[in-house]
Amino acid sequence: MHEMGIVLHLAKTLDELAEEQHITKIGSVTLQVGEVSGILTDLFEEAGDYFKKRHPILQESRLILETIPAVTYCTNCGGQYETVKYGKTCPYCKSGETYLLYGNECVIKEIEAETEDGEEREEEAVLEAGLYSRETGPFNG
Ligand SMILES: [Zn+2]
Repeated sequence: MHEMGIVLHLAKTLDELAEEQHITKIGSVTLQVGEVSGILTDLFEEAGDYFKKRHPILQESRLILETIPAVTYCTNCGGQYETVKYGKTCPYCKSGETYLLYGNECVIKEIEAETEDGEEREEEAVLEAGLYSRETGPFNG
């Protein structure tokens, strides 16, 4: 299961972060999922529940999912358009010389955590872009 692999990676990353930053509890994790990343968010939540049981720091955490809209760029006319609506063909010039700009990624946007001394903190964009990115999305050729 594709989603399971991502959650496994996510849980492992959070474990490492927890150790490094002395985090005792993770409140929420905001994850941005690209519209054409091929990730099914329903399955994602199920996989998340599975890992919650195995990772104590995640037990009370909430997984917040945000969608990144997919945008495609046309190299022929320089236009940008909605990938989901038009696919690989540019709606302005009908060219097929296009590539996906956004929407194929899965990124941790924000982590809300509590440290050993009871201090609440926010780890923003700790992991930067590209936590997990599929090589080939449905609109990526
Ligand atoms: Zn075009």
